[in-house]
Amino acid sequence: MYDLVVIGAGMSGLMAAGAGARKQKKVLVVAKGQGVLSLSSGCIDFNPELLEREEGSPYFKVQDVVEESFSFFKGLVKRCGLNYVGSPSEQTRILTTLGTVKNSCLVPESMFLENPESYERIIAVGFKGYFDFSPKMFLYYAKKSGIFPGLKETEEVYFETGTITVNTTWLAQALARGNLKEKLIAFLKPYAGPKTLMVFPAVLGDLPEDRLFKEMEDVLGVRVVELSGGLPSFPGQRLNKALVSTLKEMGVNFLFNAEVIGYKKDLRQVTSIKIKESGGRVREISGKAFVLATGSFWGKGLWANKEEICEPIFQSKVYLPRNFAEDFNFLASGIYTDEYLRPIKELENLYAAGSILANSNYLKNNSGLGLALASGYKAGLLALGDREVRRNA
Ligand SMILES: Cc1cc2nc3c(=O)[nH]c(=O)nc-3n(C[C@H](O)[C@H](O)[C@H](O)COP(=O)(O)OP(=O)(O)OC[C@H]3O[C@@H](n4cnc5c(N)ncnc54)[C@H](O)[C@@H]3O)c2cc1C
Repeated sequence: MYDLVVIGAGMSGLMAAGAGARKQKKVLVVAKGQGVLSLSSGCIDFNPELLEREEGSPYFKVQDVVEESFSFFKGLVKRCGLNYVGSPSEQTRILTTLGTVKNSCLVPESMFLENPESYERIIAVGFKGYFDFSPKMFLYYAKKSGIFPGLKETEEVYFETGTITVNTTWLAQALARGNLKEKLIAFLKPYAGPKTLMVFPAVLGDLPEDRLFKEMEDVLGVRVVELSGGLPSFPGQRLNKALVSTLKEMGVNFLFNAEVIGYKKDLRQVTSIKIKESGGRVREISGKAFVLATGSFWGKGLWANKEEICEPIFQSKVYLPRNFAEDFNFLASGIYTDEYLRPIKELENLYAAGSILANSNYLKNNSGLGLALASGYKAGLLALGDREVRRNA
């Protein structure tokens, strides 16, 4: 019997599991697949102004744990060598592959852009055969944008990887493991100099060798920055890996490729969930408390057909926003909860978190991973009967 069973392995599910592991409880995460985390930029977007929203909003419900959950998150990933910079109360600047600046809340240290006014030279580093980043385009827009007021000189350089076409994952892994890293550093040495910023697509290493950007900074004596770009995003994959491996180290159990297809209850308590494993075997898993962290449409926590939108496991009532089809309003669809993040009055030990919550709308609110992080953490604590959080809820 598990103390806590979490359904879903996206940011919200992983943080709920982390809260349980912190309290040294027996925790299981059951998931059909990976969450959206691996597709994301790896930057945790969060707009603190949303915390002031009306009482019904999920942002209002997590306000008491935002600081604590963000610092817990930083500690979790640091155990895997992944440093995150920033705080929930302010926005942090990062550069994109398009030469623009984007604000996010917590960002990997390798992406953090500090004091852009201090640089006089930018070297944009591309890779031959890698078509997801154009140094030329980056420099064109970066110069136009005025982000670097002191800029005097720019240069685009292309490193030969020895392979005709390369993709993001191959490149990041090759730079982490092979002797390509030494060759790249040797290639870049002549371009190093004072007040120089070297920018790269986000491929500078895999975990646990994620310190590649630091190593390059030390050897070259320049600031090295990874740029946020399109899909697939390696920083998102690194973050997913860091969280899962840290949680495993902390004793969290994982069951992947398992779809939750139903549940059993006794009076007002969920007693077990019914799962279907990839081979087709169906079995039950018992727990004392459950967190529903199955995401929105991407994660398949919500299903839509022409007639309705439903939450398929517990059949929680789904809220449908007005003007559903306009302006990404459909992303506000989701389930309502009480102040303790419980979606169904009759099921006292079921909690919900993440993008399945009504009115989360990550696109409009620009707060996707931030809300998943804070609500997952809070749902985990509440599910384990943390009275302090209950009082604040
Ligand atoms: C392409 C894309 C890029 C994004 N980029 C960013 C970004 O850079 N920064 C940012 O802050 N936000 C970003 N967002 C928003 C953000 O990623 C999401 O809001 C957040 O990841 C949601 O996390 P979640 O845990 O609620 O759900 P998800 O990540 O969707 O996880 C759901 C989990 O539940 C599992 N699941 C679903 N149904 C079942 C079932 N029946 N049985 C078992 N398991 C089940 C899934 O397999 C998955 O593991 C992005 C969103 C998208 C779609």
